[in-house]
Amino acid sequence: MLRINEERFLSDLKELAEIGATPDGGVSRQALTPADIEGRRWFQGKIAEAGLDYNMDGAGNQSAILHSDPPSEKRILAGSHLDSVPNGGRYDGSLGVLVAFEALRTLKDSGITPPVSLEAVNFTDEESAIMGLMGSKALVGQLTEADFERSRVDVDELTRRFSAIGITRESMLAARRDDALAWVELHIEQGTRLETDGIDIGVVNAIVGIRSIHVTFRGEAAHAGAKPMELRRDALWGASQFVLLARQHVMDNYTPGVCNVGIIKAKPGAFNIVPAEVYCALEFRHGSEAEMDRMQTDLLRLLRECAAEFNLSVEYQATPPVIPATMSESVMGAIERAADALGLSRERMLSFAGHDTQNVAAIAPAAMYFVPSVDGISHNPKEFTRDADCVNGANLMLHTLLELTKVFA
Ligand SMILES: [Zn+2]
Repeated sequence: MLRINEERFLSDLKELAEIGATPDGGVSRQALTPADIEGRRWFQGKIAEAGLDYNMDGAGNQSAILHSDPPSEKRILAGSHLDSVPNGGRYDGSLGVLVAFEALRTLKDSGITPPVSLEAVNFTDEESAIMGLMGSKALVGQLTEADFERSRVDVDELTRRFSAIGITRESMLAARRDDALAWVELHIEQGTRLETDGIDIGVVNAIVGIRSIHVTFRGEAAHAGAKPMELRRDALWGASQFVLLARQHVMDNYTPGVCNVGIIKAKPGAFNIVPAEVYCALEFRHGSEAEMDRMQTDLLRLLRECAAEFNLSVEYQATPPVIPATMSESVMGAIERAADALGLSRERMLSFAGHDTQNVAAIAPAAMYFVPSVDGISHNPKEFTRDADCVNGANLMLHTLLELTKVFA
């Protein structure tokens, strides 16, 4: 059975980690900063060295291409991102780009011409240095002028970063592609389920949706000593009750869904005043839109019940949601057949973090798979995936692409 070149692949992974390296073993390669640009140049050099075709689109997404003969109009795409969070780890994103690249390089070295062209992609700004999932959003034609307005860097800096790699807002907005037959991404798990279960590969069946709700409980300020307890309208009592009941409710009824209250602010905020108003920020995630609807109805009912119990009023306002992305059965099937052929154990799981795959899923059958992250540590210099798991992930990419050519060529 065909295998990737382990030594070459692991040495590339190490070499890449030296670009933007931090003293504690991590990397800082925020999108289109000098370190990221150096990483991009390194990737382009490796593509040339491998004798693969290179392309960069109007969104700055870089590709290595292994053409079919004659070159097919449509292509199977795989990849991830080379940019990182500040002081992040060396595996998040990078591993996904390198396994796709190594798979193409292995095919080329073996003299295999695929029946349909294959492309290994590095997406621009996955990690939100600018806006997050930017390159993939542009690729699927969902990027708009409004997205530039919510950029995390100011207009001048944005223009500087774009011009550093020869792209513009206009080229970004015109980067939509219609030639993707299928997409697959490898990513580190960033959690502990694979490690706990002793499983090699997590086949992601959905990337969770996210809904966020701003909640305000209102009661009445009162003297913290003189006001009898039974007459108080303490807004924090209602909020506290809600936080714990929501936890229980989601664990009892919506596993594997999750919820979080990450901000809680009481007013007026003094030792000796009964809280009159409490603001809290509620977020919940699930892989199914229908379940999210049910969760929302339930959590809002719970809010009203908690408010009523303490004689409070409650108001809430939802922010624009992230819709769950369901993965393609045919791409998941290709990953699973390849894993079985390689003797890798696998299980299906949700991705609770966002990935470029959720964007690409809008234009092509898409799926992704995880390899284990030691202790689940990620977005941290201590992020670590064992060499053996990196190699498994790369061999799986190679054979998944071959499976996909059978399905989609
Ligand atoms: Zn990532």
